[in-house]
Amino acid sequence: MGRTATSESELRGELVRFSKWLSSLGFMPGTAGNLSVRLDEERLLVTPTGMSKLLLEPSDMVIVDLEGRLLSGTRKVTSEVGMHLAIYEVRSDISAVIHSHPPIATGFACAGKGLDEVLCQEGVMTLGAVPLAKYATTGTGEVAASLAPFLRGHEAILMANHGAVTYGNDLLEAFLRMETVEHLAHIELVAHQLGSPRPLSVNQIEQVRMAKAKYLQNVNVPKGLNHQPEAVAELAHYIDQPVE
Ligand SMILES: [Zn+2]
Repeated sequence: MGRTATSESELRGELVRFSKWLSSLGFMPGTAGNLSVRLDEERLLVTPTGMSKLLLEPSDMVIVDLEGRLLSGTRKVTSEVGMHLAIYEVRSDISAVIHSHPPIATGFACAGKGLDEVLCQEGVMTLGAVPLAKYATTGTGEVAASLAPFLRGHEAILMANHGAVTYGNDLLEAFLRMETVEHLAHIELVAHQLGSPRPLSVNQIEQVRMAKAKYLQNVNVPKGLNHQPEAVAELAHYIDQPVE
């Protein structure tokens, strides 16, 4: 996994590709959502405002500096660029950010719920707990402040009454995380609809963590996928038991 595109034209192509995937999944209806990737240490390549992610062309992308100022491009900068900037500022280790409105995960965010129940093994193997950032008006500085408490130790965050944001070493990793957020939300929703969710026990979580460590030793996985110690600890916190 994780072919990392390096040239600007490759990155423009990847933004188009992942925008279409997210759009086809129903995560970016209308003109919702935005994607960005680091071009170098001082510049980001970002999807523009006000366009369907299904219809984007490589030439539609805009280049901004780390203050969000437009450096190049014929389109306008998304009003949500501040969310991306806040993440890149704190997480110098990541190179791609995706913000979208996956309907089930956003439903959780609109019901005031993060994804912190340990209902399936995949949650421990992948994202750990997905926290809920407090309400913030889109396009304002409130968004960065609401995300700040969770940026270290998580690579996926729900945003109250809004949507979700994920990030990673590259767009593929950020995309897989967004896809997983919605999948975990769907599972949690169905388990509750069935009326008898059965969370994993502390021992079961520990066993899955050990399996994950083994998996990571055997597979060439980008470092970001093993990056969620706090998120996994929070899963255990849900049942009031320490993981370690
Ligand atoms: Zn949004």
